[in-house]
Order: sequence, then structure tokens, then C-alpha cells
Amino acid sequence: MKVSSRRSFFRYMALLGLVTFSAVPLYAKAQKDKVKYQELPHDAQHCSTCNYFLPKEKQCILVEGSINPNGWCSLYFKKV
Ligand code: SF4
Repeated sequence: MKVSSRRSFFRYMALLGLVTFSAVPLYAKAQKDKVKYQELPHDAQHCSTCNYFLPKEKQCILVEGSINPNGWCSLYFKKV
């Protein structure tokens, strides 16, 4: 695409931004080993009482893979 004027330049940059924004996920989930995920609770803390746990899917908003309701990781944040 030839950029011949200032207006064309800004149109081109806006289009480029839209293409880039739509192609890249906003965030990626953390790998289990990076957040010290374990299949056991940590004292009274476990995934089923964590704010980020999705019980129907047995998934976590922040951590990748299948999540054990009795598991735990360092990102634990108690559900209120
Ligand atoms: S953030 Fe950690 S503790 Fe909380 S649900 Fe996800 S894996 Fe479990």
C-alpha cells in the first residue's frame, strides 16, 4: 500500500491497528508450573474457593489446562 499523504498514512495506521488488535489475544493463561500449581490444597486454600475458578468447566480464568477443585496455585484469591 502506497502512503502518499498524511490522511492516507493515518488511515493505513488505523487499519493496521485493527488487524493487529483482532489477531492477537488480549492475554494468555499462565502455565501451571509458572504459578506453582499443585493438585492438593494449600492449607485451607483450594481452587473451588478461588475467585478465578470456573466450576462447570473445571477451568481457571488465569491458568491453563484442567483444574482440580482441590488444587491450588500462587495466584489464589479468595472468592468473596
Ligand atoms: S488462580 Fe490458581 S488457585 Fe485460583 S482457581 Fe486458578 S489455579 Fe486454582
